Amino acid sequence: MKITFGLNQNNADWSEKQAASGEIHLGPEGMLSFLQTKLGLGGTDCSAVVRIDQYRKRLAAVISAGAGAASGDPWFQKSFELDPWSTAKQLLSWRDELILAGWNRAALPATNSKRLAALSAIESRTEPLAQGFADKLHELMDELEYLDTSCIQSIQLAEPLELLPHLWQLLFNKLGESGVSIKEPPPQGSIDFSDDSLILLESDTEWEAAEALAMWLAADKDANKNVNMIVSDASGVLGTALHRLGLPRTGSRESSKWRAHLQILPLVFANAWQPIELGALVALLTLPISPVPSDVRYWLLRALKDEAGVKGKEWDHALEEIKKQYAEPKDPKYKAKTEKEVDEILKKIDEMLVSDRYPSGGIPEGAIIERCNWIIKSLTPQCKDNDFLNKPIGHAMALKQLVTGRKTIGRIELERMIDLLVTEESLDIKAEASPWNISTHPGGVTASRPVLIWWNFINQPGPAASYWNPAELEALNKAGIYPDENGMAQKREVFAWKNAFLKAEEKVILIRPKKLRGEDTTGHPLWDMITSSAEKKWDEKTVKIFIQNSTDVFFTNEKWELFGRKGTTIGAPQFVLPQGQNEYSISKKLITIPKSTSYSDMSTLIGCPLKWVMEKVVKIRPSDAASIPDINQSIGTLCHSIIQDIYARGTTLQVALSKRSWTPADAQKEAERLFDKKVESMVIELCAEGKKIERARYRQDIGRAVYGLGELLQKEDFTVEEAEAKFSGTLCEVPFNGFVDLLLRDKKNNPLVIDLKWTRSGKYKRQEIKDGLDLQLASYAWLIEEKEPGAEINAGYFIMPENSWLPDNQKNLRQVFQNAAKAWQGELNILAEGLVAKGHDINDENDDESSTAPFKLSAPCGFCQYKGLCEIDERNAQ
Ligand code: SF4
Repeated sequence: MKITFGLNQNNADWSEKQAASGEIHLGPEGMLSFLQTKLGLGGTDCSAVVRIDQYRKRLAAVISAGAGAASGDPWFQKSFELDPWSTAKQLLSWRDELILAGWNRAALPATNSKRLAALSAIESRTEPLAQGFADKLHELMDELEYLDTSCIQSIQLAEPLELLPHLWQLLFNKLGESGVSIKEPPPQGSIDFSDDSLILLESDTEWEAAEALAMWLAADKDANKNVNMIVSDASGVLGTALHRLGLPRTGSRESSKWRAHLQILPLVFANAWQPIELGALVALLTLPISPVPSDVRYWLLRALKDEAGVKGKEWDHALEEIKKQYAEPKDPKYKAKTEKEVDEILKKIDEMLVSDRYPSGGIPEGAIIERCNWIIKSLTPQCKDNDFLNKPIGHAMALKQLVTGRKTIGRIELERMIDLLVTEESLDIKAEASPWNISTHPGGVTASRPVLIWWNFINQPGPAASYWNPAELEALNKAGIYPDENGMAQKREVFAWKNAFLKAEEKVILIRPKKLRGEDTTGHPLWDMITSSAEKKWDEKTVKIFIQNSTDVFFTNEKWELFGRKGTTIGAPQFVLPQGQNEYSISKKLITIPKSTSYSDMSTLIGCPLKWVMEKVVKIRPSDAASIPDINQSIGTLCHSIIQDIYARGTTLQVALSKRSWTPADAQKEAERLFDKKVESMVIELCAEGKKIERARYRQDIGRAVYGLGELLQKEDFTVEEAEAKFSGTLCEVPFNGFVDLLLRDKKNNPLVIDLKWTRSGKYKRQEIKDGLDLQLASYAWLIEEKEPGAEINAGYFIMPENSWLPDNQKNLRQVFQNAAKAWQGELNILAEGLVAKGHDINDENDDESSTAPFKLSAPCGFCQYKGLCEIDERNAQ
């Protein structure tokens, strides 16, 4: 057997020849496995997460024993107390590095290094620690004398022995002593970059780069057997471009830990902490599959859309709806549940999402296990149809094992454990058989071929090397331990780069996208070596002209020629988005008389019939998750609710108070009390850590607004008759509903409507009143007049953050409503003809439409979810 060994040849082909026997290329893992098999060694692989946990236990044991301290506490104790998981992970990586450097696990020599003292103390513990790669190599070394080496004719090293980690050097030396021929690679010659055999092809994005490379390869398919390719970043972009031109795909690995089912465990535990985080709660409820049943998720999200918090009116309403759904499922494929079963489901939801939460200092083992069991129990029945759910179930089971025996675990540690457990999942697309040879690392290029193509020739972070100070190195070397000297990792990389270049017999094409996945890239360090070599012959400008090129050559001309290949570029037909229109047609049958309407419905139809049709006829709406209110909207809702509670009819006491007795100061005090009571259920975002000051500011603002309102009522001698009063009327045979924030009586017992606004500027409302476009107040006045014909009705806005009263003193509310009703009826008539107009800005000087209309409103584009559809025109123009 002739073996070639290289540090980067784990994925290399066995042989570069068409047919060969008794030849094999092996990387470190392959070599270890090959020799283990020969010696009858082996054993199962242990996951990194389990080894870290085992090592953590050793660290805890060292601390308990008070050992490992050169002076005082063990060196790692403070870090361990803050973050045991990361501390164990880091120390384990140093420990494994020293094992690979030759440490035989005996006590390390005494030095001033607290780090070495700690590692030595930890290694002396007897708590179990599963073997890692370095341990297995060590074990192999111990057994090497029993290896029958007769079957190994020679081992060709891809890198010089001196560049290998110490334990590998020892291994090859031992094999050499036992008769195996160990062959060093020939010395690397220098590379001459001062001719035209090299080109750097730059593109703006990886997509363009992939397209250009695919075109070049497709231009001479027969010659592709002469190509070596380095494709280290297998994102799939190149494979797709090759496939499109009928060439074999390069393999790709679409790794991500953000797939929905991989987020189940992290999100369940993101909802285990106090205080509740709205984002984490919404994220868990919006997962396509989660331990929370889909019906429950639907109703809870709807509740959060109306009140951004838990345990409030909307939350309770959602729970009631869920009960109803379960009692009599609308979908026949679901079985009705008994009251007891439903109660159990809701109890679990309450515990997992709301009440069973812990401070970030620590969650008890039992609570973690309960959450894991919740995931396992709820997902297992769904595995039959969705086998990918085995992954989160596996994560939950592994986490259960890891936490068993721990009393409590802090948030940071638990999240680190979960992070390591939920490793990236790969959707691998296998490389198709191809004439070219692909390596994932320049050091993995094994055979010489005329052309080398280096895909994504950019600076990518290399392996990080640990730093050992001179005193530590001296002590380690004395004990026969030789960690990599500083700079060794870079030396190996440079050797690998040169290896790839030297295997190119004629041409090298380096491909560099300036952006990769949207991020700017920086040049490969080797590029500096290349340009400085080339500049020995040419000046900098000439170098650029000769060896730098852009993928534009493929796309800007019909014919292109590059590096001995030429082809034709056929432009793709231009995709033109449909033109946006000012008017669309719709089947008349779809437009029917509305079943009911309201002020906001009316203003939408008058302002923009297209928006109204989208909402009411086409019924496109954003998802509930996308409609969770922002903090400003939530504060507005909270403020309304507080004022409603203060002035609502209810108990006798409240009626009495609401009629006369709230002094501004009392009302303010009550508002602050209600704020504290309701904030969790309505603006939970303000309960998050770090929001204390913001919460206090909003509390103060609302208190001040309520005081101002109280002052107005007192000064004007207004009496509150009703809060959130519902009124109904009929407009052109269509039921019309409205909710009046506050219905008051003035001194003359005339009705007065107050609408509360949580907006930082009353400017727009003032303008509306001035322009006679104040449809909201006008519609309320009309509704009241329907009940009290002939009454003199007044109305106004109370702008809460400004603490200002904005009465509609134009005295023409009736006329405003009549004009609006005409405009509304007119728009309905146009729709009935099958014509849907797009709204526009009535203040636009170029607007000559409906200039004579008695009532017109601007399209509410600023708050419109259909903006993207309307702006098609602008996108076409770009
Ligand atoms: S963006 Fe403006 S014009 Fe377009 S549908 Fe919405 S409101 Fe109407």
